[in-house]
Amino acid sequence: MIASILYKKFMLVHERRKEYKGVRMKIRVDPEKCQGHTLCAMRAPRLFELDEVDGHSTAVVDEVPADQEPDAEEAANSCPEQAITLS
Ligand code: SF4
Repeated sequence: MIASILYKKFMLVHERRKEYKGVRMKIRVDPEKCQGHTLCAMRAPRLFELDEVDGHSTAVVDEVPADQEPDAEEAANSCPEQAITLS
């Protein structure tokens, strides 16, 4: 019984350590390249905001949440100006 509880605690700590080591995808829009096509925000509306005047895009986060990485990649691939950098 005690061994089982200790094992569960060990596994919990082990899983948390793995999370802390996780490297998050970074996202950035180059303002020099962005032409305001708005495709990125259509593909990933939770990751980008558009300027109300010219439609130019900025990323609303520096690090992409893990569950939105596919959206970030799709948005970057959809940008005709290749203004979105993922690293
Ligand atoms: S798709 Fe590219 S060029 Fe168009 S708004 Fe988004 S980042 Fe800018």
